Amino acid sequence: MLTVHRFPCLSDNYGFLAHDEATGTTAAIDTPDADAVLAALKAKGWTLSLILNTHWHHDHAGGNVAVQTATGAPAYGPAEVEKIAKLDRILIGGDSVTLGETTLQVLETGGHTLGHISYFDPQSKTAFVGDTLFAMGCGRMFEGTPEQFWTSLSRLAALPDETAVYCAHEYTAANARFALSMDDAPAVVIRAEDVFAARKREEPTVPTTIGAEKATNPFLRAPLLAPDLDPAAAFAKVRAAKDGFKG
Ligand code: ZN
Ligand code: FE
Repeated sequence: MLTVHRFPCLSDNYGFLAHDEATGTTAAIDTPDADAVLAALKAKGWTLSLILNTHWHHDHAGGNVAVQTATGAPAYGPAEVEKIAKLDRILIGGDSVTLGETTLQVLETGGHTLGHISYFDPQSKTAFVGDTLFAMGCGRMFEGTPEQFWTSLSRLAALPDETAVYCAHEYTAANARFALSMDDAPAVVIRAEDVFAARKREEPTVPTTIGAEKATNPFLRAPLLAPDLDPAAAFAKVRAAKDGFKG
């Protein structure tokens, strides 16, 4: 069984340690901040076996070199990570990664960056989605096309509703304000209130679930919000509205 340790770092990132209970094998999902990753390992008393990157951005792979120097752990990820750090294994969608007795499936989830990947453990129903899907939001479309991003979000939306979704940033309050500007569905209004209250108490809103996102995320709901458009175009319209949103 997989246990996840979440820790905040940088201004609004979350780092995650994925720990296979049966064997003690531990992976760092991205390396937003090397010192924070190493401190989290020490706090848990876990030894790092593997770094798994989602994409090449510095707040995801920028700590690879320092963490590898400190721990000797190999780093796996999409080829684009080699823009900033050497990888020991290149991953693509359809691959699987062994972490003790846990097998993580690699999902192609490009759009935020072209090569972005996510990791899914079907046994514990846990997904690490980097900057593809956020609670009530999604990553900016820096490199991909609406078609690619929509395909990626659809792939995540097809995971079981109860899947725990570990997104890499705490952006949920801002995302909720945008969602309210687009969508007055009761589930959205109720969740936004919950999010504002949780953040007021300084509680994290991550992990979320696929079911909660399907019910309240304006990007997953784009085809309902813009029913006159095809799904990718509807997604593009919502993405553009968020990019221009001054909430
Ligand atoms: Zn990013
Ligand atoms: Fe990021």
